[in-house]
Amino acid sequence: MRFDERKEDELRPTTAKVGVIKNAFGSARFQMGKTIAISGVYGPGELHPRRISQSDRAVIKVYYDMLSFSVPDRARPGPDRRDHEISLKIKEAFAPAVIREEFPKTGIYLYTYILQADAGTRCVAINAASLALAQAGIPMRDLVSSVAAGKIGEKFVLDVTKKEEDYGHFVENNKWYGKGAATDVPIAYVPATKEVSLLQLDGEVSEEELKKIVKLGIKGCKKVHEIQVKALKDYYNEEN
Ligand code: ADP
Repeated sequence: MRFDERKEDELRPTTAKVGVIKNAFGSARFQMGKTIAISGVYGPGELHPRRISQSDRAVIKVYYDMLSFSVPDRARPGPDRRDHEISLKIKEAFAPAVIREEFPKTGIYLYTYILQADAGTRCVAINAASLALAQAGIPMRDLVSSVAAGKIGEKFVLDVTKKEEDYGHFVENNKWYGKGAATDVPIAYVPATKEVSLLQLDGEVSEEELKKIVKLGIKGCKKVHEIQVKALKDYYNEEN
């Protein structure tokens, strides 16, 4: 049994809302369990600095940041190394989906902020960003959908929480002990092209186990995709 009594292939309670920031071209809020992300998109428009522009396509600039109040110990304000690394991973996750050739020489600014973190923030940020890009009218081959799967103890589970991630570890005097019993694999998936556009591995598993985790993750991404599509439909139905 999982700490929160979910089934092994069950997502945390998930909600999505499109159009939450009036001044952005597109925006969305995405929540999975206690992890909440908000995303706003500006562009396509003028790119700064101009010298980084590309003559045949738009340049996407991604900003991921975990807000100070998002974690129990106040996170230092402003992006740190981890935030920069995650921004890069989010950018890569959208590369096969966004049709950047439609807007040469321009910039698309994609901002994702974590309001509350309980693991899986990069995945929840991607889910929010995907909806924000769609509302902004950025052409994509499909929405990008994301969730982490993993192996906790001997179980293969979907949508890992922080408590599950930390399973088998304990901290004393600021030092980590224990042989990590948890492996966490964030995955992003583009259903239309069946491409996995994000795959990271934190932990130790065999190749066979990794295959099982990825399969479970893709199944989860498809469930996330359904929630994203519904959020977009709800938004456009309310608008009209
Ligand atoms: P992800 O959030 O994508 O799973 P990580 O594996 O780096 O990325 O982080 C896992 C979780 O650890 C975060 O979702 C958050 O709950 C917690 N965490 C990360 N960084 C910090 C931090 N600086 N302070 C407190 N908790 C953090």
